[in-house]
Amino acid sequence: MTSLAGKTALVTGSTSGIGLGIAQALAEAGANIVLNGFGDIEAALAHIRTTGVRAWHNPADLSDPAQIDALCAFAAHETGGVDILVNNAGIQHVAPIETFPPAQWDKVLAINLSAVFHTSRLLLPLMRQRGWGRIINIASTHGLVASSGKSAYVAAKHGVLGLTKTVALETAHSPVTCNAICPGWVLTPLVAQQIADRAKAQGISPEQAQRDLLAEKQPSGQFVTPQQLGALAVFLCSPAADEVRGATWAMDGGWTAQ
Ligand code: NAD
Repeated sequence: MTSLAGKTALVTGSTSGIGLGIAQALAEAGANIVLNGFGDIEAALAHIRTTGVRAWHNPADLSDPAQIDALCAFAAHETGGVDILVNNAGIQHVAPIETFPPAQWDKVLAINLSAVFHTSRLLLPLMRQRGWGRIINIASTHGLVASSGKSAYVAAKHGVLGLTKTVALETAHSPVTCNAICPGWVLTPLVAQQIADRAKAQGISPEQAQRDLLAEKQPSGQFVTPQQLGALAVFLCSPAADEVRGATWAMDGGWTAQ
């Protein structure tokens, strides 16, 4: 069992879905947690506090660099310091390139990629000072392969993998590591919306749309779970992963093996 007792983790976009699953797994390993994101914040905080760790929430909107500054200052100074940074928040917009709204391009890039740059640049000095650190970036299979209609998302997630490798090189001679996880389909609110949109567009039931989605992409025929991704994040924080640097961990039911 990895113990993260005494460590503090900031997990962006952690009020639901994958972020909440990762926050929960880190909390079960003993880390105090700074949550970020929107929605049912009290429920997310209560969920984390059942593990007995300390938990905070900061409402920063990651599309705004000034709010990211405030989030990192809060995490660094109000919680006793940050040891683990999980860049998880992400959004999607789906449209062909010819009709892709430029404002949506900017927003997807800001939240999915630029925010990762800002949190890393702001919190890395603190980790170096504290003598230990982990940066875990949640990319996607779309960081490895493309998908029609997802130009901004695909570009942002490919960018996250490039940024991960660069930060890993710049921290190679230090006890700070930086790695990326590429989930396949995970049944979160983000994906539930895509299934609903697909069912509506094709005039089929949501159950059929869900089966089609998995059959097309995920050879296992099953969703990856936030708990499985959380366990991988805990491993990346363990001593066994001290020399895992700049790596891309696909957990995608075989999607990118095809
Ligand atoms: P989700 O929609 O369930 O959760 C997204 C989280 O981000 C929420 O907490 C939300 O409040 C927060 N968020 C959204 N916009 C924000 C903003 N501007 N500022 C701060 N927080 C914001 O999504 P999810 O499916 O759990 O996805 C989490 C991450 O995993 C994303 O980066 C996504 O690209 C990636 N991912 C998801 C899947 C999947 O199948 N669900 C697959 C591959 C990668």
